[in-house]
Amino acid sequence: MQLTLATHVLHLPLRDPFRIARREDDRQATTVIVELEAAGLTGIGEAFPVAYYGETVATVGVVLPLLAEALGGLADPPTDAATARAWLADAATVMADTIGGHGGARAGLDIALHDLVARGLGLPLWQLLEAPATVVPTDFSIGIDEPAVVAERAARAADFPALKIKVGGAADLETLEAVRGVFAGPLRVDANTGWDQDEALRLVPELERLGVELIEQPFPARALPQLRWLQERCPIPVVADESAVTIDDLEALTGVVAGVNVKLAKCGGVGPALAMIRRARELGFRVMLGCMEETSVGIAASATLSGLVDWVDLDGNLLLARDPFEGLVMDAGRHWLPGTEPGLGLRWREDDTLS
Ligand SMILES: [Mg+2]
Repeated sequence: MQLTLATHVLHLPLRDPFRIARREDDRQATTVIVELEAAGLTGIGEAFPVAYYGETVATVGVVLPLLAEALGGLADPPTDAATARAWLADAATVMADTIGGHGGARAGLDIALHDLVARGLGLPLWQLLEAPATVVPTDFSIGIDEPAVVAERAARAADFPALKIKVGGAADLETLEAVRGVFAGPLRVDANTGWDQDEALRLVPELERLGVELIEQPFPARALPQLRWLQERCPIPVVADESAVTIDDLEALTGVVAGVNVKLAKCGGVGPALAMIRRARELGFRVMLGCMEETSVGIAASATLSGLVDWVDLDGNLLLARDPFEGLVMDAGRHWLPGTEPGLGLRWREDDTLS
């Protein structure tokens, strides 16, 4: 396959500062948009680099050409859906065999290939994947800040069916009380590795009282005995995110936590995420589908799988002051609607300038 690759590094301001327990305020998201051309077809993808997982714009810039070169050994994309699905799985394997880790870079090419192949077949991507048309609505995430500021943002987002509140800051309980004062729906909390065992034990009864639906990643990624200790004492599901990067992490998490958070930018794209969701189901996990601060390219690709999970947390593009793409549509119930256009159904906004 003759393959042409173009990349665009975008620095996108966020609507509100976004702080999580394991890093300082984010005021802008930096992402890499991938454009592919092969066999007369084009596709768009997103490689979102997360330093915590070992990726930066510089590593993505080095890894993408390596992956593209390896993919050049594949035949041209097939022209029937069943063979195309197998071809996409082969492409993901080629990339995983080329370099370990680098899930963001691999996702950039994997998403672009899915878009390209689905466009070639004239099918919306969710249809090519035979994913359900009935999807779970997304929650909305709010970063760590003063309790009154978090509550004000929660009030603004009160039409979402659930809110995900980042914790692991100085005033978690006060923050959740303030949010509860303005929002009656399910609250999910995400400590991004920021709690210790004493803190968790102190907070659990309060979280139960406040009707918290799940606790995401209270302890560091490798602290599996501590995660198990908490889940044994806590009726609220504990969900692994930083501990659940790829499908290979799942086995060790069985009997440790109730759920896992699958993200395309961690595991390497649509194909690896689909495989990870299926394996997680086999192992009895409840599943969240999450995201980074991606544009609607990463979010639309993720959203194709949002009928396959229990909890959807696909709001990265909503955190941006301005999404450079259009075509992804959300209904009033906060479902990302399965598209009708081929592929991801996205295009650059007309007035957008590439950087
Ligand atoms: Mg998380």
